[in-house]
Amino acid sequence: MTDRPHDPRRRRVLATAVAAVAAVPFANGLLARQGWAADLPHLSEDDPTASALKYRHDAADAPRSKKSGVAAGDQYCHNCRFIQGDSGQWRGCDIFPGKAVNADGWCTSWLPKA
Ligand code: SF4
Repeated sequence: MTDRPHDPRRRRVLATAVAAVAAVPFANGLLARQGWAADLPHLSEDDPTASALKYRHDAADAPRSKKSGVAAGDQYCHNCRFIQGDSGQWRGCDIFPGKAVNADGWCTSWLPKA
């Protein structure tokens, strides 16, 4: 063991380096996910699952009703807990893997973001 004196600057530099390295996988995953979503084919309203869940590209055309305490007019894909990413008109959705849904759309699986 060494008897080196405690150096707070060294500790801060090491803590910053560890935090930066730990953040890389999350940043890469977020960027990859958003880029990936932009390349996805758009979900068709005629897709059997989309049809069963009454998905519409325009939520105004969907049979929305008050759900989880949220007024029907305030329910959109962009504020659904299953939407992926925070920007873009077309984004991935956990309910429709491999397809992009319209941020202004809606389906019966809608739930508010947690
Ligand atoms: S689950 Fe949510 S984000 Fe996905 S299509 Fe339905 S309302 Fe839109």
